Amino acid sequence: MILEDSKHKTNSKREQSIYKCLEKIKSSWKGDVGGLIQDWEEIAGKQLALNCTPLNIQNKILTIGASHPQWRQALQYNRLQLIEALKSFGYQIQEIRIRQYYPVNFVTKESEKEIWEKHPSRTDKNGVINCPFCKVPSPKGEIKLWGKCSFCRRKELRLD
Ligand SMILES: [Zn+2]
Repeated sequence: MILEDSKHKTNSKREQSIYKCLEKIKSSWKGDVGGLIQDWEEIAGKQLALNCTPLNIQNKILTIGASHPQWRQALQYNRLQLIEALKSFGYQIQEIRIRQYYPVNFVTKESEKEIWEKHPSRTDKNGVINCPFCKVPSPKGEIKLWGKCSFCRRKELRLD
């Protein structure tokens, strides 16, 4: 559900309410993971802490949410070290489970950056052609990359 909602990144109102909702969920997690969230950066290291969040501790099993498959893998590799680090901080964890988890702000930041970097809306270099969907003259670079103008592209992203 979180994954699906995060795709509606162009709708800022909706995004905000999702963000608030996530914050609520996060604060309710704190009941389970307690002080671990506070110590997390020190235990996991800055990089890992930015991309992975402790979600839950149950029967000495710590569930961690990873923002990306690559971080999920990094966690897998560092599992034993992480358990040792947790123990040295007083958390008696025997096992770590990793779950895929997409924080909304993370996904949005990445996508906006990606769109910005690849944006081919320069008509000075690329010229203009009619969008095959809305028939509006649009930068050629957009049509070449997406097969449609940036407005149609945005529409598609929103409905996707
Ligand atoms: Zn169009």
